[in-house]
Amino acid sequence: MASFSSWSSSGLTVGPRAYFEPEVELLTASEVHALQLKLLQETVERAYHTNAFFGPRYRAAGIDPGDIRTLDDIRRLPIVRKDDILADIAAQPPYGTRLQADTSEIVNVVESSGTSRRGREVQALSAADFDGIVRAEAFGFYWAGARRGTVVALMAPLTMAAAGVWWTHTLQRLESNTLRLADADTEKRLEYMKRYGVEVLITNANYLRRMEHIAEQLGYEPARDFPKLRSVFGGGGSWTLEWARERSERWHSNLYEQYGSSQRAIAWTCERGMVNSGGYGVIHGLPHLSLLEVLNPATGEPVNEGEEGEVIVTVFNQEAQPQIRYGSNDRAIYMPASACPCGRAFDGLRAGSIGRYDDMLKIKNVNIWPETFDRLVFAHPQVAEYRVDVTMAADGREDVVIALEYKRGVTAEQRGQVASGLGQAVRRDVGFSVSVHEWMGESLVAGGADLMKVKRVTDKRGGTS
Ligand SMILES: [Zn+2]
Repeated sequence: MASFSSWSSSGLTVGPRAYFEPEVELLTASEVHALQLKLLQETVERAYHTNAFFGPRYRAAGIDPGDIRTLDDIRRLPIVRKDDILADIAAQPPYGTRLQADTSEIVNVVESSGTSRRGREVQALSAADFDGIVRAEAFGFYWAGARRGTVVALMAPLTMAAAGVWWTHTLQRLESNTLRLADADTEKRLEYMKRYGVEVLITNANYLRRMEHIAEQLGYEPARDFPKLRSVFGGGGSWTLEWARERSERWHSNLYEQYGSSQRAIAWTCERGMVNSGGYGVIHGLPHLSLLEVLNPATGEPVNEGEEGEVIVTVFNQEAQPQIRYGSNDRAIYMPASACPCGRAFDGLRAGSIGRYDDMLKIKNVNIWPETFDRLVFAHPQVAEYRVDVTMAADGREDVVIALEYKRGVTAEQRGQVASGLGQAVRRDVGFSVSVHEWMGESLVAGGADLMKVKRVTDKRGGTS
């Protein structure tokens, strides 16, 4: 196992592959499954006997730890959801009855980035739990080339959310030279990246899109101004292969993606990145640290390769708060380990397939994901940003208005072509009519407190937003 002092030199490089924990990454599929079963059994046994949240639930469901004889037996355990966690926290704040350690053992608390008034989920970690999560986070950065002295530009803000604190600690443990740019505006970030010779850029698809636009306006040429840049974390949410290939070329970098949450579900693309031999790459789970299920929400059964389902996460052997079968409400396409040529026996998710079930909108009787608008709008490279407003008139008629902010230098004629082309594409692909206008407000590209986050679709029907 990698220890603190040896992280920057503990890996093993074989050809194009860089193993962070070779003792795990070189296991065969059957060895991985045997290890997971052992860890699952230990995790359930411990929760059954010592946890005031899980123990009574398992007993009420008539489950005994001895019932877990195969990995498939995990599905005998009840799924825990956000509402269960929030009710538990409300009844016994601030940690709920899931806390099984003394509070003096807690070294890190993170909160979900909940937007609702229902409150935020809390995750408490002991020193060993924290070490485990930092190990999980290290895989992806290591696979993308972060080592001792590597100059890494980090955009995640340090808040009560998980990403900033976990990533900052992880990069420090990897002894990378981390530029902490969350508080700077985009112009300043680009300046820092140039001055210190950025090698790895950690952002997401949303922000990469805006950053590139501003970089172009300011006259940056990535190949000239960031000559050492080679890895960009530019995934998260939806993106298309064509978009990713263009970004890869524009930033002369390989693109990478993470799936992560404060609930400790962590998965990463390997060194091959998020575009793999021209197709979508695999976001690998880390089978010795957690178990990711992808289940058909209607049946609760695992989906097949290439099918979408809900991600359910179990984190092994947590000291402070177990996390067993947490229903994330995240949707993703399941990909087995064999879908990636890297050879790791780590099943995972298809890159570019992550979304939220609760993001689905029903507009004019059509179910639509916000990502569909992204795909259709950003198919037009003349568009810098956009917003969608969904409204309902007094007579119940629904209206969809797409407002486009164009890049500089786009002519009036081109704007007209984009607007009519987009209207036709929505009608053809989605099945309803939209009005397409030009965005007339302040630029959508520059601002925002957390530049990594953006909400493009606003539902103004029925007082909800
Ligand atoms: Zn791989």
